[in-house]
Amino acid sequence: MNSEKLKKIDHKYDVIVVGAGFAGLYALHRLRGEGLKVKVIEKGSDLGGTWYWNKYPGCRCDVESLEYSFSFCEDLQQEWEWPEKYSAQNDILNYANFVAKKFDLRKDILFDTKVMAASFTETENTWKIETDSGCIFQCNFCVLASGNLSEPQMPNFAGLESFEGNWYHTGLWPINKVDFSGRRVGLIGTGSSGIQTAPEVAKQASELFVFQRTANFSLPGRNHDSDPDTVKIHKSQYRQRRIAALETPFGIGGYPPPTQSALEVTDEERDRIFEEKWQEGGTISFLYSFNDLLTNKESNEFASEFVRQKIREKVHDTETAELLCPTTHPIGTKRLVLDNGYYEIFNQPHVNLVDISKNGISNITKNGVVAGSTEYKVDALIFAMGFDAMTGSINNINICNHKGEYLSDKWKYGPLTYLGLMTAGFPNIFFVTGPQSPGVKSQMILSIEQHVDWIADCIKYMESNGNKMINPLKKSEELWVKHVTDVANDTLYPMGNSWYQGANIKGKTRVFMPYVGGFQKYRAKLNAVVSARYEGFDFN
Ligand code: FAD
Ligand code: NAP
Repeated sequence: MNSEKLKKIDHKYDVIVVGAGFAGLYALHRLRGEGLKVKVIEKGSDLGGTWYWNKYPGCRCDVESLEYSFSFCEDLQQEWEWPEKYSAQNDILNYANFVAKKFDLRKDILFDTKVMAASFTETENTWKIETDSGCIFQCNFCVLASGNLSEPQMPNFAGLESFEGNWYHTGLWPINKVDFSGRRVGLIGTGSSGIQTAPEVAKQASELFVFQRTANFSLPGRNHDSDPDTVKIHKSQYRQRRIAALETPFGIGGYPPPTQSALEVTDEERDRIFEEKWQEGGTISFLYSFNDLLTNKESNEFASEFVRQKIREKVHDTETAELLCPTTHPIGTKRLVLDNGYYEIFNQPHVNLVDISKNGISNITKNGVVAGSTEYKVDALIFAMGFDAMTGSINNINICNHKGEYLSDKWKYGPLTYLGLMTAGFPNIFFVTGPQSPGVKSQMILSIEQHVDWIADCIKYMESNGNKMINPLKKSEELWVKHVTDVANDTLYPMGNSWYQGANIKGKTRVFMPYVGGFQKYRAKLNAVVSARYEGFDFN
């Protein structure tokens, strides 16, 4: 759409949605279906969000695709065929495009346009949305579907500008395929992205240096082509399976919750169970070995040591193996990784692990990376350094309320929300899978559907009651934030220096952001709030 033309029009909408990932796509479909005038604004040149931006080699989901998909339309879930158990980025992007086509979504999405600011006018109950193209929109409600992992942490190493090779960030991967054949490559970052991409890059590179600041736990993906019989059975039970998933902690069905502690069984029995789960594959499956792996340090240590032992078995060089064994956090307290042959690459002569745990990277030169007293000469660099997670994409928009207060000021010491859906003092603006909701600790498409449905129902409720404004009560927000913190403190999660608590971003206040009480408990809370006529919210 021509932005010059747009400027001349009076852009009034019922709802502006920021972001065209799965959250934005479903918000558009659902809200438009309620008869609302909706526009989605997306800074990227196409839809898909995460799966549009993260095109790095090896990118795929770590939740089975039959689960990681929309459930709102029976036709859709019956129609779509996933080629593999854990789908690759390209297949997930194809799926997003299929959804957009099926529900005719593109016509209401404005691409290549970044939302820069949003300000609320109380007298008119409207948000003014400003974009980088100069176009201004007005809306009664704003839905921030801007993503939890959508604001890449960019490298700021001294000397990067002098580097003569090409460099890439996994979260901003170019559309055209990058060929590392015959090139010496440096990979910085060993979270899910780095661990997923390393085996693929190792296949091409003449030499690969993996710079590891913190060793991470990773489990074998055991991905395979979809089995037609399994798919047939799954699809015949889809509706019941989706309903069952709603009653689980991670919003994923098919894993019976564990009933016993790791301390209740003999050593042999414990190892047998871990081994069974290890062979089965999948992170939830493994964390479901026992019911206290994320709450009891002693139990967790058994699981951590089991995986360390597997690493030692896989990696031939004992020194490298020990460096790859995580010792600084309990397993599962940082996002557990699912890989496709990560540890095994270190048995190849051209793959080197560089331990930067003590002094980090000193600088980058025109030829490579300096760590300690060594310059590692490389032709290309991959930064798999993650994201300013959960709050980054929200704080990057200058959000100002009718009193002239900025959300980024309110959230200076961490996000404050009621139910992860709204923040007090900022009416009519909603977050999808926002901080203090279980979003990132669940099968995210399920959490997206849950939040979007909640928002759509809420707007309809307001319409039917003649309300123009919704705002959470400060007291409700305080209680919810406290509850989220208390729940996290009852677990081992705070022991991992993860993006869950902003530890990956220099200077970011450390506060545990996701709600880890479980999707099913959160769902019950949302339902109770609605049944009590939106308890904790103020309407005008
Ligand atoms: P996103 O997909 O992040 O979309 C947000 C969109 O908002 C982006 O397109 C962005 O460009 C746009 N945007 C942001 N700010 C602005 C602005 N100011 N103006 C305009 N547009 C803006 N979750 C799982 O449950 N299972 C998985 O296996 C899994 N794998 C993942 C793999 C990777 C590599 C990553 C990074 C994340 C993964 N996730 C996974 C989490 C994933 O982010 C969610 O599952 C889901 O795709 C999020 O959808 P979303 O629409 O909420 O956000
Ligand atoms: P991440 O988990 O935050 O990992 C970033 C890595 O970069 C960490 O190893 C970190 O080290 C390192 N790092 C950061 N700054 C550094 C610096 N200045 N110097 C050296 N190393 C530095 O990010 P991610 O791997 O992109 O994953 C983010 C999330 O996206 C995941 O947790 C997951 O939820 C999702 N994801 C999922 C999949 C999937 O399998 N489906 C794939 C990719 C991403 P420290 O640990 O020391 O901070």
